[in-house]
Amino acid sequence: MTASFLHVEGLVKHYEQPRTLAEKLLGKPKRIVHAVNGVSLQIARGETVGLIGESGCGKSTLGRSVLRLHEPNAGQVHFDGIDVIQQSMQDMTRLRARMQIIFQDPYASLNPRKTVRDIVSLPLAIQGQVDGAERREQVQAMLNRVGLRADQFDRYPHQFSGGQRQRVGIARALVSRPALVVCDEPVSALDVSIKAQILELLAELRTEFALTYLFISHDIGVVAHLADRIAVMYMGEIVETGSTRELMRSPQHPYTQALMSAVPRIHAAGRSQRIMLKGDLPSPLEPPAGCKFHTRCPSAMPRCAQQAPPRTLSAASKEHMVSCWLHEESR
Ligand code: SF4
Repeated sequence: MTASFLHVEGLVKHYEQPRTLAEKLLGKPKRIVHAVNGVSLQIARGETVGLIGESGCGKSTLGRSVLRLHEPNAGQVHFDGIDVIQQSMQDMTRLRARMQIIFQDPYASLNPRKTVRDIVSLPLAIQGQVDGAERREQVQAMLNRVGLRADQFDRYPHQFSGGQRQRVGIARALVSRPALVVCDEPVSALDVSIKAQILELLAELRTEFALTYLFISHDIGVVAHLADRIAVMYMGEIVETGSTRELMRSPQHPYTQALMSAVPRIHAAGRSQRIMLKGDLPSPLEPPAGCKFHTRCPSAMPRCAQQAPPRTLSAASKEHMVSCWLHEESR
């Protein structure tokens, strides 16, 4: 692997949950949502890393914290050698031309009072890099590239289908020619056939514009389609990372194994027994002690409830990391 293009180290994002009036009157203490808890992650230039986990595990918060759309509480983010956390707000605005995001919900992320031409022009207007005819040309070229026709450029978001709206969202993210794109569940709100088209488009654009993706999804099938490597997140922590091939072939963490067992396989030989996890994701207001997965883990041992497991390299590969006492004990 080449040197990391995006380097995230020990990133923490906690929120204060607003108290109700009754809680304030009773003097109840403020409660903290532990959304991201010391995540470290590296992405090489041109690489796609898929970030998977159940809804509410903190993956979207992590993606937004990397771009400082949410301000992290602690940790470091370096992008192409730039210390992102140390940038002033003004510098951050400039940097965002190179670090963009495609949002999950194409309905909610587009301003309903603006035409798609205006929506896609906005990042260039904020950056102030180009104006006039040049800006118009760049916007039109990008709208064309994502598959919209010239007669659609002056329409409003409500005049488009979900897939077309996501094409607008992609054009808005790419018009400033970023190098890194956080794709935050970009196809989860779309129908199956449209989903495949948008994934295909994202794959083409990655090659054409030499993009690096952090691709966030709860759907392993979607992530496996695009990602070179996969990081698995549970309750604000990354519990396993490895190449897509290695993780799909031989998941090591019991949580990853449960996620993988839910992926439909065409060939009977590839089918494994579905592992049903007990219970729901615990509340990030009160994360369990020790290994955060111990309340649902089919292989939990007494020490799992007391001590968090260290990150361990898998015996099978130097690039496969897992946080689980089972692997520590087998060494
Ligand atoms: Fe399960 Fe223990 Fe491994 Fe956590 S450390 S995943 S509880 S076996």
